[in-house]
Amino acid sequence: MNLWMYGLGQSPQETIPRLRAAGVSRVFCDCSADLPERVREAGMEPWVCLGAFPNVDQTTLSRGVDGQDYLWFGSGCPNNARIRERGKAALHRAVRSGVQGVFVDGARFASPCSAENIAALFTCFCDDCLDHAQRLGLDAQHMLADTRRLYQRVSARQPLPWQLDSYRSDYPGVLSWLRFRALCIGEYMQELSAIAHGAGKQFGAFVFTPSLAALVGQEYAAIAPYVDVLSPMIYRAYDTAAVSASCLNHEYAALCRLPGAGLPGREGVRRTASLFGVDLGDAPDAQAVLAGVPEALVVREACTARDRTAAHASTRVAPIYDLRDAHTPACIRAARQCGVQDAMLYHFDEGAFADDIWRAMTDPAV
Ligand SMILES: [Zn+2]
Repeated sequence: MNLWMYGLGQSPQETIPRLRAAGVSRVFCDCSADLPERVREAGMEPWVCLGAFPNVDQTTLSRGVDGQDYLWFGSGCPNNARIRERGKAALHRAVRSGVQGVFVDGARFASPCSAENIAALFTCFCDDCLDHAQRLGLDAQHMLADTRRLYQRVSARQPLPWQLDSYRSDYPGVLSWLRFRALCIGEYMQELSAIAHGAGKQFGAFVFTPSLAALVGQEYAAIAPYVDVLSPMIYRAYDTAAVSASCLNHEYAALCRLPGAGLPGREGVRRTASLFGVDLGDAPDAQAVLAGVPEALVVREACTARDRTAAHASTRVAPIYDLRDAHTPACIRAARQCGVQDAMLYHFDEGAFADDIWRAMTDPAV
């Protein structure tokens, strides 16, 4: 088992030996200082994480179906040439450092919780993206028209279609839009992977969990061939104080609020869960979903991620869990029992890191 830790806290000189003693074997750290060397000397692998689409300026934002421009997760348009060059330049710098490998985060399009305004979800329809969609063989104008109709329905607080079949018959352009997202991300991952592997480094990606991945363009089958490690972000009950992208509790609460408009809370949750093929337990409303999704959903997402990448034997699945969630050790143990051996913890926190618990997690008998 590989147990990974994201971050080293405020005192790396104390944290590094402590993590090693607790069974951690891989660590995400700042690659610009001497930390990679210190991590390696302690017997662990140093890794670094980069943002995939770091926004450049106001001219490189993502365009919504409403004609407005949006910044999401600090990112801009995933097809903008300047943004891609910036992302690749950062990767070129990182692979020259002493790290074992590089992860990308945010290699996707916007999700419901990636920005304050839900309109940011319905991106990107800038001129570059529309041209790119045509080159990929998609009908860009149809894609835009149907996605705009769906957004207008959301804006009018009308319940959304509950069945996938309804999207196929009534909003086929929305499915093209999701296909477009997946094709763009697959292409970019291939480019990034070539840079990392060309420099002799390993390459990994943080991705949305299987049930949400199609929404943001992260098709596992399209990404798995290019990564050594795929890490679904499976946060069950992440800090509810602020909106947090990718966390199951935040994203599903936001989704329940969308199609649930005008419906009793429990019915909105039930129908959202049905559309995405998940079990959100007996949550009475979106607020209860935000408080935390069932432990079983975490384990199921981990095991589904393994199944979806099974065709690529060299790609390891290492879900990243919330270190501060008291359910995390049980989730990791259950996922290991269904064959997901590796686990990551986000992020190092003096108070939440109990050495004995994590040492026990790496026990071969667990
Ligand atoms: Zn765009």
